[in-house]
Amino acid sequence: MADNNEVIIKCPACGCDMEKIFMPSAGVNIDVCTNGCGGIYFDNREFKAFDEPHENIAPLEELFKDKEFKQVNENETRYCPVCGNAMIKNYADVNKEVLVDECYSCGGKFLDYGEIKKIRSLNSPENKQKSKDVFKELYANVGLELLEEKNRKNTITKKIKYSVRIIFVLLMLILALIFIMLKAFK
Ligand SMILES: [Zn+2]
Ligand SMILES: [Zn+2]
Repeated sequence: MADNNEVIIKCPACGCDMEKIFMPSAGVNIDVCTNGCGGIYFDNREFKAFDEPHENIAPLEELFKDKEFKQVNENETRYCPVCGNAMIKNYADVNKEVLVDECYSCGGKFLDYGEIKKIRSLNSPENKQKSKDVFKELYANVGLELLEEKNRKNTITKKIKYSVRIIFVLLMLILALIFIMLKAFK
């Protein structure tokens, strides 16, 4: 995992220096705005190790306990503290309720204070299963429609082929009749 271990980065929400917090469960450092807004910056893919309720975030919980943080405007565009690109707001939970800032160029993610807790509770195994079921149903329905569409097309093609054959046979019959009549009247 790419970890910007040495560099102290500035919080994209409030500009304070972020503190490196070691997370033993995943063996990585994450950057936390401990003296400002309580936001957390995750390097590329680090967040995946903490977004489910069974994953250990004890050091963060300890850090956030009984602490007040600076209020920030969550709607503002944030700029990635590692590469400087404007971050894009994206949903980070299966229910699509919590928007986090994502850097499309380095894969970093910034979460405002409290968002990690919300995301973890929303990403419960039951919710994940539910969202999977929705997708399954969706795929099943779409698949069925495609199959029906294909069958419909096949039926139409068959009908056309059948009609062409009948027209051909009729034409041949008419030609034969004309031929016979011409011979008879000679
Ligand atoms: Zn901050
Ligand atoms: Zn970045």
